[in-house]
Amino acid sequence: MSRFRMYPTPAQAEQMLLHCAHARYVWNLAVEQHGHWRPGRRSAPGFAEQCRQLTGARRESEWLAAGNADVQQQALKDFAQAKSARFTSGFGEPTWRRKHVHEGFRVIGTDRVPEFEPDGSAKLNRKTGKQVMGRSVVVQRLNRRWAQVRVPGCGWVRFRLSARGEGARLPVAKTFRVTCRNGQWHIAFAVVPEPVPAPGRGEVVGVDRGVRITAALSDGRKLNCPQLTVRERAQIRKHERRAARAPKGSAGKAAAYARAAGLKAREVNRRKDWCEKTSTMLARGYDVIRFEKLNIKNMTRSAKGTAERPGTKVRQKAGLNRGILAQGWGLLRQRTGHKAPGRVEDVPAPYTSLRCSACGWIEKRSRKSQADFVCVSCGFTCNADENASINVAAGQGGIPRPRQDAGAGGVTAATSRSSAREPQPTRVGIPLI
Ligand SMILES: [Zn+2]
Repeated sequence: MSRFRMYPTPAQAEQMLLHCAHARYVWNLAVEQHGHWRPGRRSAPGFAEQCRQLTGARRESEWLAAGNADVQQQALKDFAQAKSARFTSGFGEPTWRRKHVHEGFRVIGTDRVPEFEPDGSAKLNRKTGKQVMGRSVVVQRLNRRWAQVRVPGCGWVRFRLSARGEGARLPVAKTFRVTCRNGQWHIAFAVVPEPVPAPGRGEVVGVDRGVRITAALSDGRKLNCPQLTVRERAQIRKHERRAARAPKGSAGKAAAYARAAGLKAREVNRRKDWCEKTSTMLARGYDVIRFEKLNIKNMTRSAKGTAERPGTKVRQKAGLNRGILAQGWGLLRQRTGHKAPGRVEDVPAPYTSLRCSACGWIEKRSRKSQADFVCVSCGFTCNADENASINVAAGQGGIPRPRQDAGAGGVTAATSRSSAREPQPTRVGIPLI
């Protein structure tokens, strides 16, 4: 995917927000239709049936009819795609889109271009033997740093190209998606990135992702995802406080919220930038990249519990969850996979942080603290994160816990609690954020 910052004029932004509203409305209708389905009922309408219903809805609703039919139909297409990929995409069932949060719409290119087979010959229709024509987005370069794209109902909208590399070239795509978040517009062209060629030296790297150090590499490097500074965080709190105190509907309230949103956007931009640069570095520098398999969704589950059985340390867990999500673990893995297809492997995560990378002994007591690892068996001393990443690089760690009665030789202590357990956070610690 290639994503650029978009700079619409106020009139264009107003029209694009309307597109967002239409797309969101249509998407949410589709979610509602499918939410009604229960086992035994007739299946919910598919894409073709929904398109017919959309035509009917446009005839009856003046508001919908004033919008662009292509934008609304693409929302249905997106929904159909999200629905069919719900088991593999990692996002699960398509859910509600909210105003100000999930603002965006997809546009299908208006240009007709001939399509080609992978070997370079013209793609022909099997039945008629005619040339197959595909869609293409109309993009124009204005100068070295600026280009423009046609958006329905808005004319040409400008976006900024990057200085170097992939982002400096004009994107060629069939569709693009426009999003608005935290007051910033972005355009993302649906392009599969060119795979980065492997260096061919046979080198393997393991990546251990953590909260204190975002990514520890098995070659000893420690990479950190940039976060907001203390000062920036304080500014966000200040603007949110001012917004909360300003009278309802006032211009000052909107301005204060906009300032807070701008600072929050900065954090997201920094994280995405870091993930792109780091994943390119990994794909360029190593033949095989191994990550430990993490279930981030389960790791960041709330500790809130239910009304009958409320959880404990809910605020602390919420803070940890924020810390985990601010690291961009998932994005780093995903983008590395895009850039180095077939060269990324997932290693089962259990015990990678407790296993000695020199002798293979798994022991809780080897992990002296958050940072230090001293093997109780062979005395190997190492940084704990580096030790874990060496295990990941070796594809090791996922050894099942030895059974207590199997005579596993002191790996498991005689207590009810296993010694092969990740160190738990202590009560008094350094705050994560
Ligand atoms: Zn050892």
